[in-house]
Amino acid sequence: MHRQWDTVGMAQSFVEPEKTPLALLLLGKGADPDSERGVECPGDLPVASDPDLVSRAAIAKAALGERVFVLGHHYQRDEVIAFADVTGDSFKLAQQAADRGQAEFIIFCGVHFMAESADILTDARQQVILPDLAAGCSMADMAAAYQVDAAWQTLTRWDLADSTIPITYMNSSADIKAFTGQNHGSICTSSNARRSLEWAFESGERVLFLPDEHLGRNTAVRDLGLSLNDCVVFDPHRPDGGLTREVAQAARMLLWKGHCSVHGRFTPESVDDVRQRVPGITVIVHPECRYDVVERADLVGSTEFIISTINAAPPGSAFAVGTELNLVRRLAAGNPDKTVVFVDKTVCFCATMNRIDLPHLVWAMESLVDGRVVNQISVDPDTARWAKVALDRMLALPGAGAATPS
Ligand code: SF4
Repeated sequence: MHRQWDTVGMAQSFVEPEKTPLALLLLGKGADPDSERGVECPGDLPVASDPDLVSRAAIAKAALGERVFVLGHHYQRDEVIAFADVTGDSFKLAQQAADRGQAEFIIFCGVHFMAESADILTDARQQVILPDLAAGCSMADMAAAYQVDAAWQTLTRWDLADSTIPITYMNSSADIKAFTGQNHGSICTSSNARRSLEWAFESGERVLFLPDEHLGRNTAVRDLGLSLNDCVVFDPHRPDGGLTREVAQAARMLLWKGHCSVHGRFTPESVDDVRQRVPGITVIVHPECRYDVVERADLVGSTEFIISTINAAPPGSAFAVGTELNLVRRLAAGNPDKTVVFVDKTVCFCATMNRIDLPHLVWAMESLVDGRVVNQISVDPDTARWAKVALDRMLALPGAGAATPS
């Protein structure tokens, strides 16, 4: 259930959705309204041990032909990537979806917020499908619409909202993107966060950065030259975000207390440790990592930047990579003449990305062959309209979407 927007007066109100009892959620029934993802994936899935899964996927995809376009995020499993028509980060995939006007069905092998963005950017005739509705994003879940509304009401009460520009990372629900569009803000990616912040500071005194505190801090301090003291964390679980009006007014960056549970695992100690294990290795990490981690790294940049840097490096190069493990393993396999290792010693997959597996993909495609659209992701028109306003502001920025180091 989505919030209700008052689009005439630019004011916003929302109807807090009814909560599903916890006991039902634990049983996989119902949906958590505080979460941007569903928790249930109904359907008669093939068993994972079916030896014919690969051929079933190939047959279903061939039967659908140009009617279907399969997008695969870089963090997806190999078995899913094998059937992707294109791979990329969330922004590239949303653009690819928008460019495929002839495809009736877009199967998004990624997570919920990405499928929402694809639905917003594709035309109304196209249907976007997420093979497993439980594939969410813990970071996006950390900024629920009612929490962001409450934060904005606090800033409004403090008379600071007019001088604050919301900048929202792609990794957010459509509701939060719509809030951003309605309140004169823009979306950003890890590739163009710097340009987005520069744009925001042309008209505002401070930025409310949602929902990843690390990307916001890393970009503000390392790219814009702000100090760590210019950045304060707004904690939605504390009254008034845990801030006073004076502290918020003095800040240049109000960082939403949210993070990626995958990139948040890397520590400065894990960087030091890999340097000891492989002397001379180049450490390259994603800007969703903590500030003290990116400070210890040699290179910092988006997923696309990490891929292009390693692929372009001369034979014999050695990289320790701080991003999701499915991607790191594919980079290692695709660059046998180089050393490519994971920064951390322990396994670090994105659990929700990994929910999309071959049985779910086969089920989604075979259902389409049978004339049934399953797990369609559809953003309500009002939310989609305001979210697109925020996305279009990003696309209008010079160099938007370019894969440059953050
Ligand atoms: S890797 Fe992190 S930001 Fe990306 S989908 Fe997983 S939890 Fe979300």
